[in-house]
Amino acid sequence: MWPRSILITGASRGIGLGLVKEFLARSEVEHVFAGVRDPNRAPNLASISDPRLKVIALDILSDQSIEGAVEEISKVVGEKGLNVLVNNAAIMVQYHFHESPNRAKIDEVMRSNVTAPIIVTHYFLPLLRKALPRDANFLPSHAAIINIGSDYGSLTKCSVYGSGGELGHLPHKVSKAGLSQFSRVLSEDLKAEKLLVVTLHPGWVSTDMGTDAADISVGESVGALASTIELLNETHHGGFFDRNGEPLPL
Ligand code: NDP
Repeated sequence: MWPRSILITGASRGIGLGLVKEFLARSEVEHVFAGVRDPNRAPNLASISDPRLKVIALDILSDQSIEGAVEEISKVVGEKGLNVLVNNAAIMVQYHFHESPNRAKIDEVMRSNVTAPIIVTHYFLPLLRKALPRDANFLPSHAAIINIGSDYGSLTKCSVYGSGGELGHLPHKVSKAGLSQFSRVLSEDLKAEKLLVVTLHPGWVSTDMGTDAADISVGESVGALASTIELLNETHHGGFFDRNGEPLPL
């Protein structure tokens, strides 16, 4: 069953924008909240005309912005609460060992890719809990937190992907490992409430972050992700999966 209401962070472009379009294509979905840094600077969303779409100011680095988003979304969903939070927004900053050490670059990635999804989730938990029915059972149509991770952050597959230092991807890899651990810890915390938590890897996708060299298009990735999200259940709680719902090693 499809959730009634979904919030996607980082919806101005790339996979986040694709997910917004994909969810709007499902008639059962009543509210799609597209979180962006500045709604006045989101031209890709401005061209979508659908009354179910609400573009929300949500800078994941600003507590004030997140609080404003909680308030705005609460007004729309009321006592029904928010069914699904998709923590998608993230950044990639190149960091090379052949350059001078640069603490600020690493901090920037950790702030956006680890600290921010934790804080966003913390602020939205009350609204997600509101959506949980008495017979909650780890379903996205009840309440779910979906973290967009990466198999680049897998400790098990580290040797497959090789050096982060030479390729410049070290902070992104470390941040996604941190996000996976956040998901695992949160899934333990929310087990008793039966509030679903999963991490999904979208594939190597052709976006500004993924570059044109990527394996698949945004459409291919988000089509699979949305179908997987619809089918999530208690067997997925706390797990890490690819876009098709196949388990991945942490
Ligand atoms: P893009 O770089 O194309 O888009 C990133 C999005 O995040 C943009 O909408 C950007 O907004 C938003 N964002 C970044 N910082 C903030 C912030 N402070 N507040 C609000 N929004 C913010 O990335 P992708 O679409 O490729 O990636 C989406 C997710 O998928 C990320 O979590 C990424 O790590 C993950 N992923 C991507 C892969 C790929 O191959 N593309 C592979 C594996 C994982 P703005 O336009 O304002 O900058």
